[in-house]
Amino acid sequence: LSAEAEAVLEEIEEKNVDFLRLQFTDILGVVKNVSVPAEQAEKAFTEGIYFDGSSIDGFVRIQESDMRLVPDPSTFSILPWRSREDIEGGNSARLICDVHDTSTDQPFSGDPRGVLKDALARAEEMGYEVNAAPEPEFFLFEEDEDGRATTKTNDAGGYFDLAPKDLASDVRRDIIYGLEDMGFEIEASHHEVAQGQHEINFTYDDALSTADNVATFRSVVRAIAAEHDLHATFMPKPIPRINGSGMHTHISLFDDDGNAFHDEDDEFNLSETAKQFTAGILEHAPALAAVTNPTVNSYKRLVPGYEAPVYVAWSDRNRSALIRKPAARVPAASRIEARFPDPSCNPYLAFAVLIHAGLDGIEQGLDCPDPVRENIYEFDEAKREEYGIDTLPTNLGEAVDELEKDEVVSDALGPHIAEKFVEAKREEFKDYLVDVSQWELDRYLETF
Ligand code: GLN
Ligand code: MG
Ligand code: MG
Ligand code: MG
Repeated sequence: LSAEAEAVLEEIEEKNVDFLRLQFTDILGVVKNVSVPAEQAEKAFTEGIYFDGSSIDGFVRIQESDMRLVPDPSTFSILPWRSREDIEGGNSARLICDVHDTSTDQPFSGDPRGVLKDALARAEEMGYEVNAAPEPEFFLFEEDEDGRATTKTNDAGGYFDLAPKDLASDVRRDIIYGLEDMGFEIEASHHEVAQGQHEINFTYDDALSTADNVATFRSVVRAIAAEHDLHATFMPKPIPRINGSGMHTHISLFDDDGNAFHDEDDEFNLSETAKQFTAGILEHAPALAAVTNPTVNSYKRLVPGYEAPVYVAWSDRNRSALIRKPAARVPAASRIEARFPDPSCNPYLAFAVLIHAGLDGIEQGLDCPDPVRENIYEFDEAKREEYGIDTLPTNLGEAVDELEKDEVVSDALGPHIAEKFVEAKREEFKDYLVDVSQWELDRYLETF
């Protein structure tokens, strides 16, 4: 047993943990749980826990369904909302797991966490460590009498508004306490632009820990909102014609000399490496969107006018661009901000494809275009053409087409996930196309 695993066993004992939730995510980013009594913890570390992978979305075919969960001891954490004095018995804790294939005893190629680990291994071979920090936005909605989510907000706040308008700030405070109990370091939280919309920022970390954190973050936010009889949603655009929810993702590469994205002498304080990385993301953006913006609804957010990007360009100022260079107070903080991802993505897959795309830019030595400083929303087609600015896919179907065409991005997912992902997303888009929406009924039912 590793020293880290030993320490976890001790903590389980000390903190009176009765149940362990072994967690992983399916291809769509939904957190799955296998709960085992705490007595199984040692066995979980030495042998892993076996489970049937055929019942997990997009995992395996029935005949090859045996999977093994290998817990990562560094992810041990008590679940605060399952561990109150008013709950009978002891505490519950979670461990995030890697998924191994029992037939080969290798990491399972359909495990999103494994896909991100592969991306980080490539970065490491090139001499880089990857840091990431997300800015997940979400809405808090009221529940109806049956406890089902509505799209009614419980406050009337706006950007950075304070109480008494921001009734939800109590809830946000409880969410932050819950996150802090789980080891998050919260940097800031505020009411977002839209009514009922919030953002909580936590400190950057290596990209794997950050992806784990995003998965945890979504569960904590939902669980604590539910305690207040509110439904937290990370759906990208729950209400039309107002801002949607993004998950801006800040990325930087570090090498032996420190922040490889920083250059003191550059006009934007961005190194050539940072610019090539940026160029890589811009180059692959249409295909990346399928993974970073993976739902039908994602494309209702990526429209002009709501602070979400539409055009493939970068800027050191303008927030209408796909990538922004935020101001950095210290060299270590030089980074780029990808503004297109949304919080419905699988964070492991989203970070993996962003990293591969950026590294491809470095490997190919891609030229970074000039930043665009004007509001691109106001450009007409001629002006966009003059600047050579592409647009993101306008719907999930187009994005999946782009993904299939783009080898760098499909390869980043690995053959197993690329295939299952495309299959699932085509199906999702087809189902959407045959549906008849409320908009259509409102517009046509009585007119014709
Ligand atoms: N909600 C916006 C988006 O969809 C971002 C708004 C902001 O953080 N300034 O990306
Ligand atoms: Mg923010
Ligand atoms: Mg924001
Ligand atoms: Mg931001």
